[in-house]
Amino acid sequence: MKEKTTQAISVFPLTGFDKVLGYKVPLTISNDIKIGQLVRVPLLSRTELAIVSDLVAPDDCPVNKLKFILQIVYPFSVLTFELIKLVVWMRSYYALTYDSVLEAIIPTAARKGMGLKSNLFIQIDNKLDAESLIQLQKKAPKQAKLYNFLSQQTNAVQKSKVLNRLGVNSSSCKTLIDKKIIKENLTQINRTVYDDEIGFSETTLPKKIILNQEQETAVMDIGESIDRHKFKSHLLHGVTGSGKTEVYIHLLKKVVAGGGGAILLVPEIALTPQTVGQVRSRLENECGSKIIVWHSMISEGEKLDAWHSLATGEANVVVGPRSAVFAPVQNLRLIIVDEEHEPAYKQDESPRYHGRDVAIYRARLNNAVCLLGSATPSLESLYNVEIGKYSINKILNRVDNRSLPLVHVVDMTREVINQKGHVVLSRMLIEKLKQRFEDKEQAILFINRRGYSSSMLCPDCSHIETCEHCSIAMTYHRTDEKLKCHICGKQNQAPKYCPKCQSEKIRWRGMGTQKVEDIVKKFLPTAKIVRLDSDSMQKKNLFRKIFSDFKIGKIDILVGTQMIAKGLDFPNVTLVGLIDADLSLHIQDFRASERTFQLLVQVAGRSGRGDQSGEVVAQSFLPYSAPIQFARRADFDGYFKEELEQRKSYNYPPFRHLIRHLFRGRNPDKVSFYAQQWVQHLENEMKKNAKLHPLEIRGPSPAPIEKMKDQYRFQVWYFVKNVSRIIPHLAEIRKNFKFDKDVIELLDIDPVNLS
Ligand code: ADP
Ligand code: ZN
Ligand code: ZN
Repeated sequence: MKEKTTQAISVFPLTGFDKVLGYKVPLTISNDIKIGQLVRVPLLSRTELAIVSDLVAPDDCPVNKLKFILQIVYPFSVLTFELIKLVVWMRSYYALTYDSVLEAIIPTAARKGMGLKSNLFIQIDNKLDAESLIQLQKKAPKQAKLYNFLSQQTNAVQKSKVLNRLGVNSSSCKTLIDKKIIKENLTQINRTVYDDEIGFSETTLPKKIILNQEQETAVMDIGESIDRHKFKSHLLHGVTGSGKTEVYIHLLKKVVAGGGGAILLVPEIALTPQTVGQVRSRLENECGSKIIVWHSMISEGEKLDAWHSLATGEANVVVGPRSAVFAPVQNLRLIIVDEEHEPAYKQDESPRYHGRDVAIYRARLNNAVCLLGSATPSLESLYNVEIGKYSINKILNRVDNRSLPLVHVVDMTREVINQKGHVVLSRMLIEKLKQRFEDKEQAILFINRRGYSSSMLCPDCSHIETCEHCSIAMTYHRTDEKLKCHICGKQNQAPKYCPKCQSEKIRWRGMGTQKVEDIVKKFLPTAKIVRLDSDSMQKKNLFRKIFSDFKIGKIDILVGTQMIAKGLDFPNVTLVGLIDADLSLHIQDFRASERTFQLLVQVAGRSGRGDQSGEVVAQSFLPYSAPIQFARRADFDGYFKEELEQRKSYNYPPFRHLIRHLFRGRNPDKVSFYAQQWVQHLENEMKKNAKLHPLEIRGPSPAPIEKMKDQYRFQVWYFVKNVSRIIPHLAEIRKNFKFDKDVIELLDIDPVNLS
């Protein structure tokens, strides 16, 4: 037998070193080593954790110089082979370091090598007959209580939680286990934990649904792509209420039935409880597959357990927000990005990756299908359809041929003249609200600003109270009589006089959710009106409570911010009011128009989802602007064509990529000086290096919000056709340029938040 040579490996260290390092594996464990495993290695004089990125043929590297790894931490691979490749791509594309990418990808507990938690779960083993149950109730009421609880559960439940909640001690539980009435097992996945914490409310069994023609075609087309085992991106453009979730469920079931794994991304789990609840219960009940629901409320230990069950193939579907795109799903065949246009998919802190774009790249690495779904697809995705990169499936009709809501646009300039003064609710909206209340139908009102008034203005000296740390106006919150900064959270007592000239005439301008709530209460004193925004969300579980109250009709009118615009399905809502449709038009962002269009269509989509048709009242001071008019007519193609032309004339995304280089620091002169120095330096380098020529530089200029949390902000924009080709050069120049220690700079590739 040929003597075994020493195995060499490369690793990504998890701390500090932005390099791939080489090690040897001791013979005793070299049969166990696998790509993607977590290992302990000696590094300088320390011991560090690292991820095995490659197994190297010993002949290919100078083995003698290498040190031995110390230990394999888990027997399973923390990352799949494709995820390793994804790390390399993300590091390069987003100009990051290995450790920052790995930090985003791997849950903390797994990165630290914590032990698996091994939660114990219990469920009924053998059912008792009626007589024995009566006996048990008499002799051991605690045991009976536990038995009764478990007999109502469809799945195993977490032992500690259940005993705690029922007030049953573990010896009662043990007796039942010994008698083989209940059984105990080690399973990492269960549903009640999540139900407890998030409150998915899909308790009623869904009616039997037969796909309509458009849904059927979409399932067939996308299904064929899945069968081909080749990378392919599909865009599912289905109007609001067209039953996209049903299409997802069919495809997920198909993948699972074929032994594959899948990822379903949603913008924010707490705000899409219906989608998540439905997908999970259907997959669990109809094909017995194990679903991981990945959300911020599961503990680090539970995340490690979930990671483990995916990595070992015990669970094969994961549902979660953008970070779920990294889950180590085995045999990955399908990634679905629901509401793909949502800005929430872009991480707004380091590492600044875009969940949708990573999903597409990962699907490519896995020869899988990526399905992007939306009623209002992003311009980027529609453009990719146009140039033939993605296939498109459209669902133009709502289920059961329900009609899209009728949208009325109210010209608020006229309204102000007619009502002689500041107007929050137009007469039309008030009339329709009253009518709905009489007819016992529900309404939703949207205003995309929390608080009461948007700013305090002094008519005598024109003073506007701004935050002392940020360059924005403070918002008035009447519930606690405070002025609050929505960026840094600074709060002051609301002043009675102008802080500058002591005038008593100070006025409050603009409006927020609190004011709308107040005013509606005046018009409809007997209606049950509830406000839902991130202020009221601070109380735990409130969202869930309000949500279920609204569903069962305990609430007549829901007033909220955009956070309730997403994917909710309340059949009895027949009126939606958009109080200030222009708010998103005024932000300094080239996507302002696109966002306004999307918001209007999405918000309108909450109306008329049941048997009654729906209406929408959109109030605007710019009623004839393109996004509002196109949204009114639900003319997607028209809007897309016009907006795409605009973008083309400026050569903005999607025609080129945008990269934002942000500089910040406490001293504005220093920040601006270094930003300028940098641009000069870069321009000089460009003269020398032809590879940089495709780069167009704009700036430096002050960022739209010049000051944030006492830091002054300047930005440079780069436009480029191909990010991957430019980034390595840009990163190199950046590495060698000496920035002042007081100036923080960061690169944001394909930025979404431009404030
Ligand atoms: P979307 O996400 O496209 O806005 P949903 O997936 O929330 O729409 O579907 C809206 C409603 O229509 C849901 O209550 C769903 O159960 C129902 N539904 C979906 N497909 C069908 C169908 N083919 N027939 C009847 N009802 C359907
Ligand atoms: Zn004043
Ligand atoms: Zn502030």
